[in-house]
Amino acid sequence: MLRVGVNGYGTIGKRVADAIRAQPDMEVCGVAKVSPDYVAVGAAEAGYPVYAVDADRADEFRSIGIDLAGTVDELVAASDVVVDATPSGVGADNRPLYERHDTPALFQGGEDATVAEVSFNARANFDEATDADYVRVVSCNTTGLSRFVAPLEENYGIEKVRATLVRRGGDPNQTGRGPINDALPDPVSIPSHHGPDVQTVYPELDIDTIGLKVPTTMMHVHAVNVTLDDVPDDVSDVRDRLRAEDRLLLIPDYAGIDGAGTLKDLALDAGRPRGDVWENCIWEESITLEGRDLYCMQAIHQESDVVPENVDALRAISGHLTGPESRTLTNETLGIGL
Ligand code: NAD
Repeated sequence: MLRVGVNGYGTIGKRVADAIRAQPDMEVCGVAKVSPDYVAVGAAEAGYPVYAVDADRADEFRSIGIDLAGTVDELVAASDVVVDATPSGVGADNRPLYERHDTPALFQGGEDATVAEVSFNARANFDEATDADYVRVVSCNTTGLSRFVAPLEENYGIEKVRATLVRRGGDPNQTGRGPINDALPDPVSIPSHHGPDVQTVYPELDIDTIGLKVPTTMMHVHAVNVTLDDVPDDVSDVRDRLRAEDRLLLIPDYAGIDGAGTLKDLALDAGRPRGDVWENCIWEESITLEGRDLYCMQAIHQESDVVPENVDALRAISGHLTGPESRTLTNETLGIGL
């Protein structure tokens, strides 16, 4: 049983903790929190041992009835692996803590790629992370693009990817983010940093990306154009190959799903935790071939698509299952693709 500590219990950390708890071969040995807030109360109520990041705030935790299990240093010492889900840049600052305890760690996509030996996507490069000590699970957008690219690269070869990323302004709990009434080129410079981030997973891929930010908290939407090397006789071949992927969900026209709002509604109706949508959601009708150019549109749930990838990265680090075995187990336990 792999004992996993979660350092940074926010949007990603709490989801990853719950996903780990659903696995038969790993357990959460504790979560580290900075603030004694409603999220900390939720962690304690969920039965996770809570560790304080700042020992000086221990009394504040106690005053709201949270019985601390110790400090973050003790959590790292008690863990076989740590999932660091702290805000961008904090993970890199934490790396010496993990090194001091000789504890392997996963970092998240907000960190520079240099924080780890490998930038990871379970579908694209699971084996590269086998037995690594430090692995970065790439961002929500990079995860979404890597999953989409994988079957196209393998079946047809890719000359070039061009993607426009219409990004959510913030997560639902990020009350200060925006814009609230605009569509912002973000970044204004082209190509955006997302393409190079995909190249941390696919170093040979020719990819340019453009980013915008819009007033929604629900999901990102990508408009993707891929110039293929070998073109199938019919676009149905592409659709079938995409449909066969476990973390790509093809949305049929009949479903009446016209955007992220209806997708989230579907996820909530299906009883998914927090209304999470772990898969890339591709509008089937948008999958179109014009000569060698493939087009499509996909929605990416930023809060949750990296969650199964973290679970798989833990198995890559510990080396006890292959990529396909790990993905299947993760999918079954979380209910992905059902
Ligand atoms: P978040 O702000 O929701 O959660 C981060 C948590 O870490 C907070 O609870 C914060 O209090 C805590 N924290 C701050 N400093 C800490 C420290 N020194 N030690 C321990 N905990 C500390 O952030 P998030 O959205 O969960 O993002 C975490 C990482 O995941 C970032 O790298 C981010 O880029 C990446 N990511 C975020 C999303 C997303 O859409 N939210 C998607 C994919 C990847």
